[in-house]
Amino acid sequence: MALKVGVIGTGMIGQDHIRRLTKVLSGVEITAVNDIDVERAKEAAPYGAEVFETPKALIESDNVDAIVICSWGPAHEEQLLDCIAAGKPVFCEKPMTTSEEAAIRIVEAEAAYGKRLIQVGFMRRFDADYRRLKAVVDSAMIGAPLMYHSVHRNASVPSHYTSDMPLNDTLVHDADISRWLLSDEIVGVEVRYPRRSTVGGGELKNPVIVLLHMESGAIVDVEISVAITYGYDIRGEVSGETGVASLPNRPATVVSDVNGIRQAMPEDWRERFIEAYDQEFREWIIAAGEGTATGPSAWDGYASTLTADAALRAAESGQYEPLKMIKKPALYLEAPAVAAE
Ligand code: NAP
Repeated sequence: MALKVGVIGTGMIGQDHIRRLTKVLSGVEITAVNDIDVERAKEAAPYGAEVFETPKALIESDNVDAIVICSWGPAHEEQLLDCIAAGKPVFCEKPMTTSEEAAIRIVEAEAAYGKRLIQVGFMRRFDADYRRLKAVVDSAMIGAPLMYHSVHRNASVPSHYTSDMPLNDTLVHDADISRWLLSDEIVGVEVRYPRRSTVGGGELKNPVIVLLHMESGAIVDVEISVAITYGYDIRGEVSGETGVASLPNRPATVVSDVNGIRQAMPEDWRERFIEAYDQEFREWIIAAGEGTATGPSAWDGYASTLTADAALRAAESGQYEPLKMIKKPALYLEAPAVAAE
C-alpha cells in the first residue's frame, strides 16, 4: 500500500519534491498539500490531493501517514512539534530550525516520544560521490583525517538573500557533511571575510571563509561564494595523515572546440544533487512506511543550527566562538529506533 504523504510549503523545493514523489519514486502518494498561500497550494496539488487551510489540519488528517515540510525555516518548529504530537514520520527541509532554543525543544520532544520520527534534508549524505568519499575516510586508507577543505559556490542568489545567510542558511550543509564525513563533532567556529566581490553590486558580505574546529582537533575550512556567476560548484577534499581523498567534479560530456577542452557546470543545486534528492526520499519512504525515520536526525539538525548560531557570533566578534551542546539523548546514540509503546 502506498505511503500517504502531505506536503507543507509548495514553493521552489516543495514543487520539486512533489514532482519527485509523484513522477520519479514509487510506493508513495501525495494526498494533501498546504501553503500559507492557498492559491499556490492549489496550483501545486497533484490530482486528487486535498488542499488544507492549515499545516496542523494536514498533519492530523487520517488521510496522511507522513509529512514533508518545505515551508521556510522559522515555520519548521511548530510544524515539527505537531508531527511529533501526532506520532507521524516527517521529512523536514534544512535548516531544521533557525534558533538553538527551537532545535532543543524539538530534540527534547522527539526524545520524550521515544522513537525517531524526523529526517532532516541534508541530501549530500545521499550523494553517491560523498558516500564513496566517506567510505575511503572510514576505511583509514588515508590515515586519520586532519583537514577537510569544503567549497560551496553558487552562481547567484535571490534578491532576499542577506549577508547573514551564508552563515545561517548555506553553511548548515557544509557543517553537516563535515560532521558526517569525519565522524566528528564541531566544537568551535571562526569566520573571516576576504576582499569583497563586487558582483551583484557588492552589498553582500561575499565571499566568506569559515573554520570549523572539530573535537578530534581536525579543522575544516569552508569557502562560501554566492555570486560566482559560472555555475554551482561543490568541492571537497579530505587531507589525511598518509593520503588525500577528493570529491570528483561531476562527470559531464567533455566538449573540445576552438575555445578549448571543457565540461559543463551544473546550474544549481537541483541539477547537481538530483540523484541525491531521489535517494534521500527513497530511503525516507521506506523508513516512514515503518513509522520511523533514518538518515540525518533532529540531533544533526540541532548541531548544524548551533554551528550557524556560533558562526553568526564569530562574524560579529571576529573571534573563535565555542559551541556548547546539550547532552545527547539516548535516542540519538547509534542504536536502532525503539518503538514508543
Ligand atoms: P520558497 O520558494 O520561498 O518556498 C517556501 C514556501 O513555503 C512558500 O510557498 C512559502 O509561502 C511557504 N510558507 C512559508 N511559511 C509557511 C507556513 N507557515 N506554512 C505553510 N507554508 C509556508 O522557499 P524554498 O526555496 O522552496 O525553500 C523552502 C525550504 O527548503 C527552506 O527551509 C530552504 O532552506 C530549504 N531548501 C533546501 C534546499 C536543499 O538543498 N536541501 C534547497 C533549497 C531550499 P510565502 O512565499 O508566501 O512565504
